Amino acid sequence: MTNPNTTYICPDCGSSEHLEVVVHKWARVYQNEDGDIETDTDDAQDHSDDWDDGSQMVCRADGCGKTGSAAAFRQ
Ligand SMILES: [Zn+2]
Repeated sequence: MTNPNTTYICPDCGSSEHLEVVVHKWARVYQNEDGDIETDTDDAQDHSDDWDDGSQMVCRADGCGKTGSAAAFRQ
């Protein structure tokens, strides 16, 4: 059953439930004594996921793999 309020849908296979998008997130930076630098998104104060129609999107439905900007997936 397709959600009638879906904004993004795969232009190749029509799936709206297997889409992934690249997001920008804040991450806490940890700099260890041995020079290793690690990040942890769980420890950031701001947990928002920022993306827009210019962000890269992919359809993970079986046998599809369509990629493009989110705008290309917008209905
Ligand atoms: Zn697809």
